[in-house]
Amino acid sequence: MRYSKMFTKTRKEAPADSDSKNARFLAQAGFVQQLAAGVYSFLPLGLRTLRKIEAIVREEMDATGAQEITMPLLHPKALYDATGRWEKIDVLFKTEGSGSKEYALSSTAEEVITPLVQSFANSYKDFPVAVYQMRDKFRNEPRAKSGILRGREFLMKDLYSFHLTEEDFLAYYERMKEAYLNVYKRCGLDAIVAAASGGVFTEKHSHEFQVATEAGEDHIYIDRETGEAFNKEVIEEADHANEEKYEIKKAIEVGNIFPLECRFSHAFDFTVNSAEGKNIDVIMGCYGIGISRLMGSIVEVLADDDGMVWPKEVAPYHVHLVALGEDEMAQAESLYADLQDAGLEVLFDDRADASPGAKLKDADLIGCPVRILVSKKSLEAGGVEWKDRSSGESGIWDLGEAVERAAQMLVEENV
Ligand code: ATP
Ligand code: MG
Repeated sequence: MRYSKMFTKTRKEAPADSDSKNARFLAQAGFVQQLAAGVYSFLPLGLRTLRKIEAIVREEMDATGAQEITMPLLHPKALYDATGRWEKIDVLFKTEGSGSKEYALSSTAEEVITPLVQSFANSYKDFPVAVYQMRDKFRNEPRAKSGILRGREFLMKDLYSFHLTEEDFLAYYERMKEAYLNVYKRCGLDAIVAAASGGVFTEKHSHEFQVATEAGEDHIYIDRETGEAFNKEVIEEADHANEEKYEIKKAIEVGNIFPLECRFSHAFDFTVNSAEGKNIDVIMGCYGIGISRLMGSIVEVLADDDGMVWPKEVAPYHVHLVALGEDEMAQAESLYADLQDAGLEVLFDDRADASPGAKLKDADLIGCPVRILVSKKSLEAGGVEWKDRSSGESGIWDLGEAVERAAQMLVEENV
């Protein structure tokens, strides 16, 4: 991509109301733009990163045997009458259609997926089933804040699993924990699995995936002896008096997995016949990842004072190629073509009207893993200057080896 052709531009100033690193840097670099509190457009650079996170989530979910679908975002009220959640979900956006028909905007999708799977899975032979989607969710959060960390419209992966035995459910639940940890790792984050109370659904524990950072609004309690983590609520239930036992960390909840038991299958009379003709219950689980929140969390955890630092798997481009002067442009042009031929994704700052300082500042702000600079100085030194955005390491590559070296760097771990 040629920077000169990108319709978005970096901005010198952060939006006045930026209350967090992700709100500031994502807006300044032109990744997102706020339309209203908690409501964002994703612009070309931001959308590339969001799609890459989606692709990671898709790969990890598919690997568990789950199948992707999309479900409508407009949910008829009657479905909520069956589960009793029309009044219970306090963040539900409600709207009226023609003929005074009432609808909710999807805040989650148990009311849709349960009857949907029920319509296909009518024999014990049809189980287990796991289905997911990646679509916007709407929640009328009282306080939208921290950029894309807490939105009123945001992107979530929601997966629902259906089982006929507790054992089968638990095996899948554990498999999902593994898949979640893979997702976060590939996004450059260490997530902590914290036990949480089951909320309105169940007496049993659910699990949250928490990324420790000062920017988080949650508090997790880590047992100093065993390393086990809990969310605050649980702690309050179970071990209230013993808080010095735990290390307390601020964290962002980037995912959540929940045993639903028969809460929703019962609401829709979803049972099936066993081989012996006996009626058996359908046990469900639900599994969410806030994809847009995850993108904001990567910024919160990895950014430095100069801007964002994207891990290679989720960076909008692998290489940020900068040509400093007019004479260097021709050299950079041919390198741009060669890097792309080698399969690398390149953002090429080919602007003629931007100062060297502005170009270098923008490269740091946007945060691609490797910057390659073609300047008079680098050419005198025999080639191009490379810089690793994350470690700050830099050096000179001969012109002839630059493509190969860049490719090597981007397939190595931890770039
Ligand atoms: P929170 O406790 O942060 O309000 P939640 O427990 O209500 O979230 P879930 O219903 O489990 O969240 O949703 C699954 C995932 O979706 C969460 O783990 C989180 O990563 C993400 N998420 C939830 N609410 C928001 C929001 N308002 N904006 C962005 N992401 C969200
Ligand atoms: Mg929560």
